[in-house]
Amino acid sequence: MKEYLILVCLSFMYLTNTALAQNNSPVIVIHGGAGDGIKKENFTADEEKSCMDALKKALEIGYGVLEAGGSCLDAVEKTIMFLEDSPFFNAGVGSVLNAEGKVELDASIMEGKTLKAGAVAGVNKIKNPILAARCIMEQSPHVMMIGEGAEVFAKSKGLTMVKPHHFITEKVKESWKKSQEVEQQKKSKIETPSKFGTVGCVALDKYGNLAAGTSTGGMMNKKFGRVGDSPIIGAGTYADNNSCAVSATGHGEYFIRSNAAFRVSALMQMKGLSLSEAVQGTMQFIRQLGGKGGLIALDKKGNLYMDFNTEGMFRGYIDAQKKMEIKIYK
Ligand code: ASP
Repeated sequence: MKEYLILVCLSFMYLTNTALAQNNSPVIVIHGGAGDGIKKENFTADEEKSCMDALKKALEIGYGVLEAGGSCLDAVEKTIMFLEDSPFFNAGVGSVLNAEGKVELDASIMEGKTLKAGAVAGVNKIKNPILAARCIMEQSPHVMMIGEGAEVFAKSKGLTMVKPHHFITEKVKESWKKSQEVEQQKKSKIETPSKFGTVGCVALDKYGNLAAGTSTGGMMNKKFGRVGDSPIIGAGTYADNNSCAVSATGHGEYFIRSNAAFRVSALMQMKGLSLSEAVQGTMQFIRQLGGKGGLIALDKKGNLYMDFNTEGMFRGYIDAQKKMEIKIYK
């Protein structure tokens, strides 16, 4: 009888905990890149609307997954896939070109519950690099794969493959040509570009789990073989259920050197800072190094914070109260 009562009590506790565990209000935050060139005067009304619409659709896709009880990883993956397929951002279709006029894509994803992560770098035949990152995380013993090896692996897992020109838009070709002329004039002086268009997403699901993901074409005119922060776990992407989920955009070299995404998490866990303090502290660190860009972050309680030190950052969220906000400029 006593054992029976204990069993009933334990089952009740389990059921209540499960119910509570599923009771978190989902939250999703996205970015579509930051930059000093992201100023109102640089966009036509049509361009502005297209970007806003794409960000809205991306949020709705991700939030739809979360509301239906899907995992934060699924939400991050689906949101980023949509942004990769959209020509308005520097990820997937619409990616910038390297100095050779070719596309080299990077992406990463991380799960806060298990600290599992996956990343790809320097690929140009995988239609959605974020899917490859997730595949590496879940179906390989590795965290990061690059170039042809990553492509062979993605193909073997049944991911959709495309020809590199699939990613190249006329608009990007034109700006690449212009940037080449500017490069010629400056010779080898490396300058921070005026617009980064990397995409990123952080999400909290009903089960209290966090995930983060980032996808990019990198930086215009980057050297062939250059890898930025976006596929580096701890630099461009990080997620830990005990602290937060973070995605970065900006001049990748500075975000790598400052371990930006992990720094936010570490400041929370090791210094006891709040999410906003940790993001501000990290942005301050990047600023001191001379870096430009922005961060989006979300903690396990559903607090979100976005910060950037450029003129603008494509960004948006749907919070725990289901409030949606999308912004471009300061
Ligand atoms: N962070 C990316 C990189 O350095 C660029 C971006 O955010 O647009 O590759």
